[in-house]
Amino acid sequence: MKLLSIQNISKQYTANDAPAVNGVSFECERGEIVALIGGSGSGKTTLLRIIAGLETPDTGEVVLDEKPLNSPSVFVPPEKRDCGLVFQDYALFPNKTVQQNITFGKGAADDPKQVKRLIELAGIGGLEQRFPHEISGGQQQRVALVRALATRPTLLLLDEPLSHLDPELRDSVRTELLKLFRETDTTVLFVSHDIEDAMAMADRMVVMREGAAEQIGTPGEVYDRPVSQHVARLFGKTNFIPAGLLPNAPHSIPSENGTGRVVPVRPHQWRVSDRSPAFSGTVQSVTNRGSHREVTLATEHLALTIHLTEQIVINTGDALTVSCTLPD
Ligand code: ADP
Ligand code: MG
Repeated sequence: MKLLSIQNISKQYTANDAPAVNGVSFECERGEIVALIGGSGSGKTTLLRIIAGLETPDTGEVVLDEKPLNSPSVFVPPEKRDCGLVFQDYALFPNKTVQQNITFGKGAADDPKQVKRLIELAGIGGLEQRFPHEISGGQQQRVALVRALATRPTLLLLDEPLSHLDPELRDSVRTELLKLFRETDTTVLFVSHDIEDAMAMADRMVVMREGAAEQIGTPGEVYDRPVSQHVARLFGKTNFIPAGLLPNAPHSIPSENGTGRVVPVRPHQWRVSDRSPAFSGTVQSVTNRGSHREVTLATEHLALTIHLTEQIVINTGDALTVSCTLPD
């Protein structure tokens, strides 16, 4: 039995609008870290709020640790669900110290040793007597997380937990969070619109689009075998090559414009090479990106975006022949 099972969840806020969540089903294993990703308005927050009990679905079931939370005949209120919830704006009590904030939740003060340990793990030791305005945004974020973890929830729900952090802080907070989750064996469902957060932290990802779960898989699976152009583009600029031009490609997807199938090729998967099937064209632009150069190449039928790490001289107007190497 999975720790969390959600089956066929749908929610429409207003009759005239499209459903915010539309027939979503997936499961989380105990201890698993799952990312819900997708663009703004794709239904991520609504789904999280339904699991937390802050919103009632029109259809579907939520089962946590074999206990039905939502079904046609059951509704367990939020405070009776064994879920910790951290929202985007991590609302700490401004007039309470860090320590008071952390031990506020039900049962959070029961095990001072565990609380102390969580504080150390989260890297906020020594800040216990400060007030929220006396610590940084990243530290506030971690206080909110420790507050949620201190109640020892079976399931931790996080809505864009890293969205307020600047890029430098983000990396270290990610690492610390992962350590915290693994060491406390917490099952985590976190919402992100940032593919990097999901790639770095999640065991599996659920890609949301227009209220539906478009693809569910490990980050590697979703990256290597996206089911659609939409999913492929989540990872950044992607070339879509008509499948007929890459007959041995291991993976192809339906073209968005309905003209057969295309093969997603990432910019870094190209090399300067005439190994067949090769693509020849004229260099339209060369942009230095530090770790690589981004080259746009106009071939007879396609405009390709290519990331080159080779130390060769390339200028706009040059003729160039490239081929790609794709994962099996
Ligand atoms: P996400 O978190 O992926 O950005 P949301 O779940 O917040 O998406 O929103 C999904 C859709 O539901 C959007 O179209 C949004 O406008 C709508 N929506 C969200 N909350 C409400 C609400 N309380 N009332 C009406 N519509 C809502
Ligand atoms: Mg949201």
